[in-house]
Amino acid sequence: MNEKFQFGLFFRFAAFTVCFAVIYVSVLVVCSSPVLRENMQTSARLADAERKDPPSLPVVVIDPGHGGEDGGASSGGVCEKDINLSIALHLAALCRASGIGCRLTRSEDVMLYGDGKPSRKMQDLTNRLKLTEDCDCVFISIHQNKFPQSGCRGAQVYYSGNNANSEKLALAIQNAVRENLQNGNTRQIKKAGSEIFVLDRAAVPAVLVECGFLSNEEERALLLSKDYRKEFSCVLFSAILDYLLQTNQT
Ligand SMILES: [Zn+2]
Repeated sequence: MNEKFQFGLFFRFAAFTVCFAVIYVSVLVVCSSPVLRENMQTSARLADAERKDPPSLPVVVIDPGHGGEDGGASSGGVCEKDINLSIALHLAALCRASGIGCRLTRSEDVMLYGDGKPSRKMQDLTNRLKLTEDCDCVFISIHQNKFPQSGCRGAQVYYSGNNANSEKLALAIQNAVRENLQNGNTRQIKKAGSEIFVLDRAAVPAVLVECGFLSNEEERALLLSKDYRKEFSCVLFSAILDYLLQTNQT
């Protein structure tokens, strides 16, 4: 990780922390003022429905794609399910260390299905979205790409058309990857169609990140490096902070 990116990440996290602290302190100051307290109590009684809780952060639901018997794309003896899980676990650790709530759809090498119908794959995909149903959250699915032409490389982010903030999150990630990790990456974010089930069905801001091409020898070697996967997680984390600042959720 270069110094410029480390500084950038520090700056984003500092800005995020300061914004959250300013809002929190402002709420404390206002609530503790004796002059305002009576008016506030009266207003609260009269307009209880309009009262707002102090700002809270959305939970980050992190979805390492595939797992278990579903290895996903594979090339050169590498299955994407393992790379996906590694990046997701690093990202979850960064979120937790920063006080941002997160949930992992899987933290082991498993598919998410029970008995009966529908098919195991459909149960698996549906269960991944269940974690988004009872919370204010954003959904980030992590995958690796593969293409017949081995020259193809570079991360690409897809977003759900069901929530306007999905595009903002996708753009934050695509830009962060280009600026900090893949300077030559000219790929653009893409709105997902029905072919990407989790984005087609998600109600919350949702993106799917294809981190790289396993079919490209050089990129596959990078993705097999633990240091590179950690760097990729840091870039995703910095983009999440950018998104939270942009959407005033701090
Ligand atoms: Zn995949």
